[in-house]
Amino acid sequence: MTTNKHQPILPGATIGVFGSGQLGRMMALAARPMGYRIHTYSPDRDSPTGQVADREVVADYENEDALADFVRHVQVVTFEFENVPALVAKVAEAAGVPVRPGATVLHTAQQRAREKQFLASAGLPVAPFALVTTQVELEAALAQVGTPAVLKTAAFGYDGKGQVRIDEASQAGDAWATLGGQPAVLEAFISFQHELSVVAARGLDDSFAHYGALENIHRNHILDLTIAPARIPGPVAAQAVELARAVLEKMDVVGVLCVEFFWAGDGRLLINELAPRPHNSGHLTIEAALTSQFEQQVRAICGLPLGSTTLVRPAAMANLLGDLWRNGEPDWAAAYATPGVKLHLYGKQSARIGRKMGHLTAIAPNVEDAIANVLAARRALQRDSALSDVTSTGQSTSGGRSTKNE
Ligand code: AMP
Repeated sequence: MTTNKHQPILPGATIGVFGSGQLGRMMALAARPMGYRIHTYSPDRDSPTGQVADREVVADYENEDALADFVRHVQVVTFEFENVPALVAKVAEAAGVPVRPGATVLHTAQQRAREKQFLASAGLPVAPFALVTTQVELEAALAQVGTPAVLKTAAFGYDGKGQVRIDEASQAGDAWATLGGQPAVLEAFISFQHELSVVAARGLDDSFAHYGALENIHRNHILDLTIAPARIPGPVAAQAVELARAVLEKMDVVGVLCVEFFWAGDGRLLINELAPRPHNSGHLTIEAALTSQFEQQVRAICGLPLGSTTLVRPAAMANLLGDLWRNGEPDWAAAYATPGVKLHLYGKQSARIGRKMGHLTAIAPNVEDAIANVLAARRALQRDSALSDVTSTGQSTSGGRSTKNE
């Protein structure tokens, strides 16, 4: 079935989602009350999305026959993670099924080097960087970018191979070996006051909506805590929103896209990376905003008017990683005992260290109470008192594993 570009895809239609993790699950849970059906496609069975979808297709992303069959049964295609091969968008487009966001957005955002080059050539602020393909180039890049610096694989990849901090030029050889000699991006290490994100959406009619600046605290390179609104001066938040608007417009995005920032010690706002989909830092919009990022994604890709992004209350979100299961099943009842706190679990089969298994969101009259409540609820879950709430400021980035989406 061919869909006219500007014709809305109305309730009753089926949305096809590539990827089957928690982002697809929460989008499916938002799409259902809106009257849509969800089909999900990934190599995994009984997945977080599949458990709540109308149809779970289990097939490889390179299986052209399975892809063609999948797109025949949906009216629009979207992604819940960006590391899907270009073939996916090609097959959908060949079948006349709209792909939102489109193939170009995916192509740019699924590779760190391309993403950086796009941002820099669009005149958007990024940390000083250089692309390197050999150790000799790395040494030259270190002379240009300076130290401390961070070396990151150019491809985001599936395997979580990540990034290594370089404090002095003499560490170039070791750093190069640590990343396995793959093409990489060297960027200046930014001593930041805060990490921020703006989750925004763009409609088919070029309309724009955003949830303001969110404050993010990472632990071991994984998002730990998000706070809304961010505790930063108003003009900084406004600047972050304008930069996000520029990104969505320049990329001609239809859908939700998250821009992650460093707010540097010297006051500069620098774009760290893009995620062309709902984002972990936007999970708190489920409880805290009039329209969640997941409903917004459905609205945007279906060509409907975007919903109000008004934050109804301050909020804080804390991730629940597989580490919590170290001493057995967490004490779920205890988390429910904290007022104003909501528990989300993603239905993942096995808890591994660093794996995102769920999250908690607290809403409260002010951000400080929201933070205190969400951390208290997470502490109550833990059967191991040795686990702490201490969140790093993300100032160390040595040898960490990092994937673009977990
Ligand atoms: P990334 O996968 O690039 O988003 O990096 C994960 C985390 O590592 C970021 O959220 C930061 O906490 C830290 N990090 C990455 N790049 C830098 C940098 N250039 N300067 C300082 N911290 C960084």
